[in-house]
Amino acid sequence: MPYNILIIEDEPDINLLLTRILTAAGYTAAQAYSGTEARLLLEKETPDLILLDLMLPGLSGEELLLEIRETMHNDIPVLILSAKGSLQDKVTLLTAGADDYITKPFEPEEVIARIQAALRRSCSFKRSPSLLSCKHLTLCPDTRKVLVNGTELSLTVREFDLLHLFLQTPDKVYSRERLYELIWKGGYYGENNTVNVHVSNLRKKIKAADPEEEYIQTVYGIGFKLCETL
Ligand code: CA
Repeated sequence: MPYNILIIEDEPDINLLLTRILTAAGYTAAQAYSGTEARLLLEKETPDLILLDLMLPGLSGEELLLEIRETMHNDIPVLILSAKGSLQDKVTLLTAGADDYITKPFEPEEVIARIQAALRRSCSFKRSPSLLSCKHLTLCPDTRKVLVNGTELSLTVREFDLLHLFLQTPDKVYSRERLYELIWKGGYYGENNTVNVHVSNLRKKIKAADPEEEYIQTVYGIGFKLCETL
C-alpha cells in the first residue's frame, strides 16, 4: 500500500504540482486548500505525512500545526512548505512540532528526498517494541509495512505473514509443512508447492529492493529460515 500524503496548500498551481510530484514518486496524495478543509479531512482519515503551507486563508499553517500536535495526530510527520525562509521561522516551527522545512521554490527531488527521510524517521521513532529488522529490511507489524533500503514492498498477506514469522524467530528452521500449518492455518500440506511459490515470490520482491543481500535461507532437506545477520 502506498503512503498517503496530505497536501495543505491554497495555491491551486502549487497544490497540483505537488500532487504530480508525489504521484510520480508512487505516493497517493489528498489535497486540501485551506486549514479548515484540512481539519475536516484529518477528522476522517489519518495520512502518513502532511505537507503544510504556512500562509493559508483563515486558519494559518502555524495554528493548524499546533492543533495537529495537540490532537490524536501528534505522531504524523509534518513538513512545512513556505516562502518564509528566515532562520527564526524555522526554529519556531521545528520547536512547535514540525519535522522539516522546505523553502519555496522547491525542486521535486528535494521534496521527495525530505519526504522519504521523514517517513523513515517516523517509522523508527515510533519505536514500536514489535518493530523487526534484518540487514536493510524493517517490518512494522502494526502497519503491516515492510521497508527495504527505504523502499516499501508491496507484499501479499501470505508473503507478509511468512516474512513476519521468519523475523520473529531468526534462528528457527521451518519445514514447508509447518509453514503451511502456521500461515495457511491448517489443512494437509501434501504434495503442493504453495510454500515454495510464496517464498520464491517474497525473495524476488526483496531482491528488487536489495540485490546485494540474501534474507531467506533454504536449509537443504528441511525448509527455510531467516539468513544469518552478520
Ligand atoms: Ca499559501
